[in-house]
Amino acid sequence: MKNVRVVVVGAGVIGVSTAVCIAEALPFCSVTLLADKFSPDTTSDGAAGILFAAKFPDIPLERQKRWFKDTFDHLLAVAQSQHSPEAGVMLSSGWQIFKEVPAERKPFWAESVIGFRFMTEEELKRFPDHKFGHAFTTLKCECSSYLPWLENRFRKAGGQVEQRTINSLQELSNSYDIIVNCSGLGSRTLVGDNQVYPVRGQVLKMEAPWLQHFIRDGDGKTYIYPGMHSVTVGGTRQEDDWRLDVDEGDTDSILKRCSRLEPSLSHGKVLSKWVGLRPSRRNPRVEKELVQLPGRRVPVVHNYGHGGWGVTLAWGTALDALGLVRQCLQEMQLQAKL
Ligand code: FAD
Repeated sequence: MKNVRVVVVGAGVIGVSTAVCIAEALPFCSVTLLADKFSPDTTSDGAAGILFAAKFPDIPLERQKRWFKDTFDHLLAVAQSQHSPEAGVMLSSGWQIFKEVPAERKPFWAESVIGFRFMTEEELKRFPDHKFGHAFTTLKCECSSYLPWLENRFRKAGGQVEQRTINSLQELSNSYDIIVNCSGLGSRTLVGDNQVYPVRGQVLKMEAPWLQHFIRDGDGKTYIYPGMHSVTVGGTRQEDDWRLDVDEGDTDSILKRCSRLEPSLSHGKVLSKWVGLRPSRRNPRVEKELVQLPGRRVPVVHNYGHGGWGVTLAWGTALDALGLVRQCLQEMQLQAKL
């Protein structure tokens, strides 16, 4: 019998991953995925979905490595299975290039991706503005396919789905025993966390099927990521910018910067333009707390604030959130015995 009621708020890549991990690992829990927006309308849906990351300043490196590796291994298994086209997950090889040699020449995730190495002088010749680079194979996870696929997996595990906007966690306190908060930028209002802020990103989808390798400038602002059906070309990183409309000045700048890296892009066709707000925070918040709501104290597990790396870290942080839900269950059992 399902006797513990868990609600996961948020149906972006963080919420859906967390809901699947809980529903599959804890069959005695009834799990509800509640959000105001589902795929294809979340921020996650528009993410380029390429797997690599920058370091967060205050999270132990071992924990960040685990988040990366757990996600990589999970998605690699999907990419190598029959589900790859339906789930939108594929291997992707290419280069990350730098105008100056970075202080840390080898990123912390170098051992998790496939075949990581420094680029040769010969390879760097085609990028005359750049001095140094990484060559490796990583994964691309296209959330507009991956989220519906994962939601289906959630339903198969007995999960329920509800579309609703909530204005405070109080609205959930009578209906659920444990609340899992994966509301991304929504956490600003939902739990009053002013440390979460938007970093605006604009990307273009282009038709350029001859491009097979990704190219990313190490500054994170200019990139070309070939995908299953189109090439994602970007981008911008505008802090505290809430504008969701397409800026044609940004479009021009993206096309100019990317064509300098890949001149053949001038023959590509722009299919669509998209803007999303990365739910950024100095460090992602993956922790639990007891929140006093009217009548009782409710365990809340937070999992939000992944910034520009939500797809890369989703499965790893979802597994941590599952561990925190298990701890809540143990504490509830202890309390019941007292
Ligand atoms: P979201 O996808 O925003 O989901 C939040 C959910 O919470 C939504 O379902 C929303 O409806 C719900 N919600 C919020 N408030 C409420 C409320 N009050 N009531 C009910 N529901 C609520 N990451 C990578 O790893 N690799 C990339 O290559 C990459 N490229 C990117 C490119 C761009 C242009 C952008 C903008 C982002 C990119 N990202 C990338 C980052 C990635 O998109 C985010 O880190 C990720 O989407 C965050 O997921 P999330 O589930 O936390 O948030």
